[in-house]
Amino acid sequence: MTLTESTTCNLCQQPLSDLEIIREMFIFKTCLVCRACQKKFKKITGSTCQQCGVALEDDRCVQCLDCMAWLERVGEPIKHVSLYHYNDIMQQYFKYYKFQGGYHLAELFRHELSWKIRNLGVDVVVPIPLSEVKYNIRGFNQVTAWLGNDYQSLLQRVHQSNSQSEKSRSERLSSENPFRLNPNQLCVKTAKICVVDDIYTTGTTIRHVYSILRQAGYQNLCSISLAHA
Ligand SMILES: [Zn+2]
Ligand SMILES: [Zn+2]
Repeated sequence: MTLTESTTCNLCQQPLSDLEIIREMFIFKTCLVCRACQKKFKKITGSTCQQCGVALEDDRCVQCLDCMAWLERVGEPIKHVSLYHYNDIMQQYFKYYKFQGGYHLAELFRHELSWKIRNLGVDVVVPIPLSEVKYNIRGFNQVTAWLGNDYQSLLQRVHQSNSQSEKSRSERLSSENPFRLNPNQLCVKTAKICVVDDIYTTGTTIRHVYSILRQAGYQNLCSISLAHA
């Protein structure tokens, strides 16, 4: 980053004060996001769903309706936490980070996310893998960019085949799960595994991953995402 580029906020493009530049760039060694933008990120606090981590309005509840429905259908609970609400500034962040090549914006949440994962007391950190196509377009995996080298690629994306009609029903059903275990990356079955995703939206992705890991014998699972939509 050159000095001329570094004088505006990476999210709102407003000029930064000298103090902000010094603070962010040299003291905290993060990317350049102005104080006003940083204040707009809203943490999830108060009572949350014990399955998906969404903020609950009624603190007498322990689960959201969505997760209750999932549990009834699938029978397997999840244990997920999200750090932030997916509000306008978070959308803006992902727009620049994921879709406009803003790899350096990983810095904004790297420390906080690592700290939170460490606090969960996990043995193995597992990122959600990107499809090859998306990886080639984006040039990086937005989850591993937050994690540095501190993760294990236990999961792979299944290559989607075009011959769905030739498969048997059971093959088709299992092929609906876009993930599978990476045969080259196994760890002890008793390990506490934390799956990391960027945004929790419908919960389908995370539930697919729990299902694959449980089938493989991993029972001590939790997951985390930066944002909850
Ligand atoms: Zn800004
Ligand atoms: Zn929930």
